[in-house]
Amino acid sequence: MNIRIGNGIDFHQLEKIDKENDISLGGIKIKSYYKIIAHSDGDIILHALSDAILGACGEPDIGYFFPDTEQKNKNIDSKIILNKALEIMRQKNFNLINIDITILAEVPKINPYREKIKQSIAKLCNISIEQISIKATTTEKMGFIGRKEGLGCFVNVLLGKI
Ligand code: ZN
Repeated sequence: MNIRIGNGIDFHQLEKIDKENDISLGGIKIKSYYKIIAHSDGDIILHALSDAILGACGEPDIGYFFPDTEQKNKNIDSKIILNKALEIMRQKNFNLINIDITILAEVPKINPYREKIKQSIAKLCNISIEQISIKATTTEKMGFIGRKEGLGCFVNVLLGKI
């Protein structure tokens, strides 16, 4: 079997707001008093996942396919970005073997949403939830993540070709 590994990383800024809003995380919406500042919907999981898939395929990053200088990419639904990465993967006859996700955030708390996010990603990628791991960590109040000024995500994927 031809196996390829891919790695993706994404960060976005957070801003404290007075009124609750929806933040996009792994294709679901989470209510929060923090707003994600981004050109797109700011879904760190789908961005890091898309980059990991593209990386495993030997392709450049999502910014290459969806430049933030283009108006049409403003507030873009990250599912469109992921679908593009999946389309490239399928064109190269690769399948997802597993996805390993690590979220770095003080807010929002991931635990209550872990299973929902897994289900969302399984559906988006057309794989089973057993192929997905979601881990979350804080930075022990250190740095910009610790100060709740931003959040980040690391994703590793393994692709296989039969
Ligand atoms: Zn992003």
